[in-house]
Amino acid sequence: MFLAIDIGGTTIKSGLVDSEGKIVAYHVVPTQGESNSAFAGSLRQAILPLLKKNLPDACGIGSPGPLDLENGEIIASANMAGLKHFPIVSQVRQIFSELGYCAPVFLNNDANCAALGQLYFGLGKESQDFAVLTLGTGLGGGLILNKKLFGGYQGNGFEVGHVPVAWPFFREEFADIPLMRCGCGSLGCVETFASARGVQNYYAYFTGSPNKRTAKEIAEIAEQDPNARKTFRLAAFALAGLLQGLIHTLNLPLIIITGGMAAAEKWLRPSLEEKLLPSLFPIFRERTKIVFTQGDEHSGVLGAAALCITDSQGA
Ligand SMILES: [Zn+2]
Repeated sequence: MFLAIDIGGTTIKSGLVDSEGKIVAYHVVPTQGESNSAFAGSLRQAILPLLKKNLPDACGIGSPGPLDLENGEIIASANMAGLKHFPIVSQVRQIFSELGYCAPVFLNNDANCAALGQLYFGLGKESQDFAVLTLGTGLGGGLILNKKLFGGYQGNGFEVGHVPVAWPFFREEFADIPLMRCGCGSLGCVETFASARGVQNYYAYFTGSPNKRTAKEIAEIAEQDPNARKTFRLAAFALAGLLQGLIHTLNLPLIIITGGMAAAEKWLRPSLEEKLLPSLFPIFRERTKIVFTQGDEHSGVLGAAALCITDSQGA
């Protein structure tokens, strides 16, 4: 049994998960991110009720970065401004030791965990090589090569949200749009178009008024609202630019698109295929499958549980 912890900007989701990916207990607490000590309190609330039910063999934690994997720390968080070098791995170990108990604790970024979750419990079970794109508030990515997570130097590889997207796609329909400044400081990263935040920003631009709608709401009104459809078309073109690069670079047969925005498949897929397919070598066009996940609110917890499997194997 694994203890899985999925750190988000507004909640900590935790679960007890068996080795087949079945969630046997589940718990959500709001995240207090104004300081390290407040966050430590949320963490305690998130896991103590589960530890009373069952003591796990290992614990996996998925968190947005940047992370210091060597020291088991969340260096900072875009959504929890008070968090600085939070030693999450040692904090969980401390809670274990208070219960007179010891188990390995693993940490990785949430997009890497999402990729592992798909590898062990999801749509990537049958695949050797695939990429997972998580379209959430930001845009993250995880890469599985030969059934192993690709980490990159110090585990920070495959930050595909910050790839600038291919401009030929934009020349015909979106020649005049302004570029938005990404959280990383650059202009024109794919995340600025194809994340929930990007969709909110460009919807505001196309409608010419400050936008209070979420990406989910924009998807819901897209049937009646041409500006909403235009915003998703732009997001899809940006994704096409990223995927053209990824597929030609890595020859990936499977791309899994997940996260909250994946539910907007109806508005993303047609424009994505319209731009991407003609731009791929025929051999890639025929072999690469793109799938969108739906209703996967437990994917973060499953991804954190999958981290226990892969790290226990010494991968
Ligand atoms: Zn960026």
